[in-house]
Amino acid sequence: MVKPFIIGTRNAGQFLHAGAKILREGGSALDAVEAATRLVELNPNDTSVGLAGIPNILGVQEMDATIMCGKTRNSGAVGALKGFKHPISVARKVLDEAPHVLLVGAGAERFARIMGCEEGDLETELSKKVYQAFIDDAFDDEGVIDESQNWVVKYARSQNLREWFDKLADEHHGTVNIMALDANGDIASAVSTSGTALKFPGRLGDSPIIGAGNYCDNRYGAAACTGRGELAIRNSTARTIIHYLENGLNPEEAAFLAMKDIHDLNGVGGMNCIVLDNKGNTISATTTPERDSVYWYFDVDMTEAEQRSGINVQK
Ligand code: ASP
Repeated sequence: MVKPFIIGTRNAGQFLHAGAKILREGGSALDAVEAATRLVELNPNDTSVGLAGIPNILGVQEMDATIMCGKTRNSGAVGALKGFKHPISVARKVLDEAPHVLLVGAGAERFARIMGCEEGDLETELSKKVYQAFIDDAFDDEGVIDESQNWVVKYARSQNLREWFDKLADEHHGTVNIMALDANGDIASAVSTSGTALKFPGRLGDSPIIGAGNYCDNRYGAAACTGRGELAIRNSTARTIIHYLENGLNPEEAAFLAMKDIHDLNGVGGMNCIVLDNKGNTISATTTPERDSVYWYFDVDMTEAEQRSGINVQK
């Protein structure tokens, strides 16, 4: 039997203990990944997830999250969710209660309210500061933002502002990926993010899309992504990694191929993934040449998370 464990992205290390405790007490992988993700969502220093997440181009925070159960392959996802403290728990409610997999925007908020999910303001001085700096810089010689918000249309069409977007999306990005395997051999995976900084309102990345930013299946393993979500959507990256495991590759080989697939798109931005298989093997990978790929591992016999190195996949 594989020893129960939980793994997470760079920004999850100090919070995996919440999931490890649940696993140690015989709890489920699903509860473990939700509990650890909730703590990441409360971290005010992480501007990529939950509280303090960098807003969209209008200054509004829109959150995306998914949670998946590898035993049943039931999934819950929310996109462009505003005003709730724990997007991952709203996604969990979708998984547990809704006849749907993905709810977005006002509908997701209505559902969350009905389910009694905790509402809250996710803005902080830090998130406001980053947004204001963008506005001050980007619109310096573009004139003032007019009240009709025609500039948003301009933003969508203007090469100049797209370059701004690319620059800022590279500077301020991130997502948390957490996945676990429990004593029953069940696997679960969770993803939460405020999405690409300064995105167009209503933009969904890979994180709320099952198969793109998150996938798990007890028969093989789990995979989740961070990075420029458009790339993972175009390649169905998380599901593809599981497909590679299904075809006999180990996690490192699967992650390597999936990152090669990303390079093959010749798109803007980078991609990262973390992967586990049902035998307890784990890995992370990145396409970004100047970035070390690392992730955190915490099994039930450990007292703290251990940082592990992944692979850097060149074009
Ligand atoms: N994958 C996220 C998205 O595209 C953002 C990120 O991880 O940087 O929304």
